Amino acid sequence: MALYRGALRMHFGASRHFFTPAALHQTRQSSENVSSKSKARAEPVDHVLYTQEHFALKDSLRKLIDQEINPYVDKWEEEGQFPAHKIFKILGNAGFLGVTKPVEYGGLGLDFSYSVAVAEELGNINCGGIPMAIGVQSDMATPALARFGSEELKKEFLLPSIMGDKVACLGVSEVGAGSDVASIKTKAVREGDDFVINGGKMWTTTGTQADWMCLLANTSDGPPHRNKSLICLPMNLPGIHIARKIDKLGMRSSDTAEVSFEDVRVPCKNVIGQEGMGFTYQMLQFQEERLWGVANILTMMEKVVQETVNYTRQRKIFQQPVLYHQVVHFRLAELQTEIELLRSLLYRCTEMYIKGNDVTKLASMAKLKAGRLARELGDSCLQYWGGMGFTSDVLVSRFYRDSRLMSIGAGADEVMLSIICKYMDTLPRK
Ligand SMILES: Cc1cc2nc3c(=O)[nH]c(=O)nc-3n(C[C@H](O)[C@H](O)[C@H](O)COP(=O)(O)OP(=O)(O)OC[C@H]3O[C@@H](n4cnc5c(N)ncnc54)[C@H](O)[C@@H]3O)c2cc1C
Repeated sequence: MALYRGALRMHFGASRHFFTPAALHQTRQSSENVSSKSKARAEPVDHVLYTQEHFALKDSLRKLIDQEINPYVDKWEEEGQFPAHKIFKILGNAGFLGVTKPVEYGGLGLDFSYSVAVAEELGNINCGGIPMAIGVQSDMATPALARFGSEELKKEFLLPSIMGDKVACLGVSEVGAGSDVASIKTKAVREGDDFVINGGKMWTTTGTQADWMCLLANTSDGPPHRNKSLICLPMNLPGIHIARKIDKLGMRSSDTAEVSFEDVRVPCKNVIGQEGMGFTYQMLQFQEERLWGVANILTMMEKVVQETVNYTRQRKIFQQPVLYHQVVHFRLAELQTEIELLRSLLYRCTEMYIKGNDVTKLASMAKLKAGRLARELGDSCLQYWGGMGFTSDVLVSRFYRDSRLMSIGAGADEVMLSIICKYMDTLPRK
C-alpha cells in the first residue's frame, strides 16, 4: 500500500494532519455529517485508474474545499486575489501540496495518478483561478526541483512549499516570449559565486504573493536549448519589482504579475540540477502541468453540464422545460460523451506516464482537446441559460471566462498541434 508507506515515513510536527488510509473511515463518516455538499460519494472501487485510496484522498480534499475554500470564492473573485499563504498552509497541513513528492521533504511519495486525482477534485472549487494557483505550487513550479534539485535547495524551497509555508511561482513567460520559450531574454550572468539577473517575467501566477520563483533564465550565450537554467529565486531579493498586477478576463481570484529584475544577485548554487539544462527540465515539467490542467478542467466541465441540466430542467419555455427540447438534451449528451472520451485519454496517458513512457504526444493531444472542448462546452451551456448565463452570478459564466485560458496557457493550442505534428512527422522539412 503505497499510501501507507508514504504516510508512515513522515516525521513532521503533530500539527500536520496527513491524509492516511486510516482516515478513510473517519473522513467518510464525518463527511456524512458535514453538509450535503461534502457527503461521501459512492465511487466504484474497480475504477480503471483509481483505488479506494485515491477516492479516500479525494473525499478528504472535497471536505476541505467545501469548508475552507468554496464559501469564500465569490469574495476572492471580487477582490482579485485569494490569500495564498492561508490556503496553502491548510492544504499543506493536510498533505495535498506534495502528493507525488518525496516523503523526506514532506511529500506523500505517491505516484502521479494521485496528483491527477487531486487535480480532478480541485475542479470542485467554484472557480478556475484558485485551482490554477494550487497547481502552480504543487505540479508546475516544483517538479523539476524535486527531481533534479540539490538537497540544500530542496530543504530551502521544496519542503516549505509542500508544507504550505512558502508560496511558489513559475517564471517562464516574458513580455516578448510565451509560446516560443527558447527565445526568452532574461539573463543571469555569473559574477563570482553569484548570478546577476536582469530582465523580467510576464503572466506570473501568484506573482504578487510568492516567496520564491522557479525562474527560467539564460545563463550562457550558447544555443537556445542549451543555454538556460532553472533557478530558485527568493522573491524578496533587492532588485525584484512587481511591475504590475494584471487585470484579466477570467481567473480573477488568482493574482497575475509582471515582474522585473534589475541586477538581482542570487547564489549560483540556486541553480536546479545541471546548469544549461533548464529548457529540458522545463519541457519535462510541462508534461505534468498539462496533464494536471486536463484533470482539473474535466471536473469543472462535468459540473457545468450538470448545473445546466438542473437549470434547464426547471426553466420552462413554451410550456415545457428547456431541457425537454431535443436540441438541448442531445447537445448535453454529446458534450458529456466528449468529456468521457477526454477522461479516457487522460487516464491512459497517466497510466503510461507512471510506467515511465514518454507521453508528450498524448499529453499534448489531451491538452489540445481539453482547451477546445472547454470553449465549446462553455459556449453551448451558457446559451441554454439565456440571460442568466450572461450574468456574473452563475458558475457557467465564470467557467466561460476562466476556461478560455486552457487554449492559451501552458502552451497554446497551436503549440500542442506543432508538438503532435512533430511526433507524426508531418512538419515541413527545412
Ligand atoms: C492567467 C494567466 C496565467 C499564466 N500563468 C503563468 C505562469 O504562472 N508562469 C508562466 O511562465 N506563464 C504563465 N502564463 C503565460 C502563458 O503560458 C502564455 O500566455 C502562453 O504560453 C502563450 O504565450 P503568449 O501569451 O506570449 O502568446 P504568444 O506566444 O504571443 O502567442 C500568441 C498566439 O500565437 C498563436 N501561436 C502560437 N504558436 C503558434 C504556432 N506555432 N503557429 C501558429 N500560431 C501559433 C497562438 O494562438 C497563441 O495564443 C499565464 C498566462 C495567463 C493568461
